[in-house]
Amino acid sequence: MKLHFLGAVRQVTGSRYCLEAAGLRLLIDYGMFQERSFLERNWEPCPLPPEQVDFLLLTHSHLDHAGLIPKLVREGFQHPILATPASAEVAKILLLDSGRIHEEDARYKKKRHEREGRRGPHPEIPLYTAEEATAVFPLLQETPYNERVHLNEHVWVRFHDAGHILGSAMIEIGLRENGRERRVVFSGDIGQWDKPIVRDPSLFEQADYLVMESTYGDRDHEDHGEVTDRLEAIINDTVERGGNVVIPTFAIERAQELMYYLSRLVREDRIPHLLIFLDSPMAVNVTDVFRQHPECMDEEAQALFQSGQSPFAFPGMQLVRSVDESKAINRIKGSCIIMAGSGMCTGGRIKHHLVNNIERPESTIMFVGYQAIGTLGRRIVDGEEEVRILGETRQVKAKVVQIHGMSAHADKEELLRWLSALKNHPKKIFVVHGEAESAKSFGRYLQEKTGWDVIVPEFKDEVVLD
Ligand SMILES: [Zn+2]
Repeated sequence: MKLHFLGAVRQVTGSRYCLEAAGLRLLIDYGMFQERSFLERNWEPCPLPPEQVDFLLLTHSHLDHAGLIPKLVREGFQHPILATPASAEVAKILLLDSGRIHEEDARYKKKRHEREGRRGPHPEIPLYTAEEATAVFPLLQETPYNERVHLNEHVWVRFHDAGHILGSAMIEIGLRENGRERRVVFSGDIGQWDKPIVRDPSLFEQADYLVMESTYGDRDHEDHGEVTDRLEAIINDTVERGGNVVIPTFAIERAQELMYYLSRLVREDRIPHLLIFLDSPMAVNVTDVFRQHPECMDEEAQALFQSGQSPFAFPGMQLVRSVDESKAINRIKGSCIIMAGSGMCTGGRIKHHLVNNIERPESTIMFVGYQAIGTLGRRIVDGEEEVRILGETRQVKAKVVQIHGMSAHADKEELLRWLSALKNHPKKIFVVHGEAESAKSFGRYLQEKTGWDVIVPEFKDEVVLD
């Protein structure tokens, strides 16, 4: 039995692992590298011959876990991709959107390089196209939670709730090799307990080998008070000033979580009944997937739907797909709330809404997620007085606020909680999916606390198990 670490080691993106055991070669996730310094890796061919991989098991449909699958298929992978039903649906939306963005980026780069009379480090071709993304769809094999699926006579897999985003899973693999039974668990991204809509992360009583994430392995989330209280105060304050609340938002999970909080505030009459727009075709499509998959929701969310109090349909809530509808938002007199992508303001319709609001002191720009260095969102959050949007310099006069407490990842204590149900002494724990310092610090902490054999692998490490 052998494990290959092909990404998300000492970094948070590019999740890719390969488990070779009992006559099978399994890939677990095939994600895109998103840190600027690792982008190069996206262009390298698959480190293993793709036609010799038997199955791809997908933990969840975020780009850093699924984003390179179209490229893998183009390179020759033609075997089943196991994913939960909701994950499979979200993957289609995500990969199609990603293919379109790669095409647009390539066109834009080509134009820019021509204009500047230079050549970039790569040919100006898309990493993959929208059409190549659709070639993934027939390979997706919907795999329900909590059921053993046999891959051959010696190997089974079972998907468990991860509590991270809709459809997200932890993957348990049971196998028999050389007369020995072994359990291997891949944590995927571990969510937080008691988050709205999705169920809590699953716990495991038995595992011989664990591959676990450590995004927040070096810190505990601060208690920033109730998200709803903060939202209520910010919205009421902005309405009093006569401005709009503009929220750059991620299409998967964060948008739906925001709708959940806003629906509560509206139904409890804690904010005035305003028009609330979700202006992102991708987020609207993902919201449809949520509606179709109540089995992924926690009891509280299921009860809301059953009582007719959908968190996605309440007075004032408007789901916007068309460009005309999107433009019409700017003609509204009086205050409204606008959620639009992208979450870090790097593209999409949010830019137009920023143009219309960022120079108005009465409006509020509200950030609800992490803003990476170098993005427009980060510059606004960092308090820059002027920013360039759509080719023009704009003064930042709107109020800028950030709401914490909506992270989709477990913190240090919750990561430990995830291991707390184990009844056996695992042979090895591999700490992955965390920046180098975070992964190493969590690895040390875990080793001190438990005395277990903890390893923080490096890129392309191969480890023989047993
Ligand atoms: Zn994720």
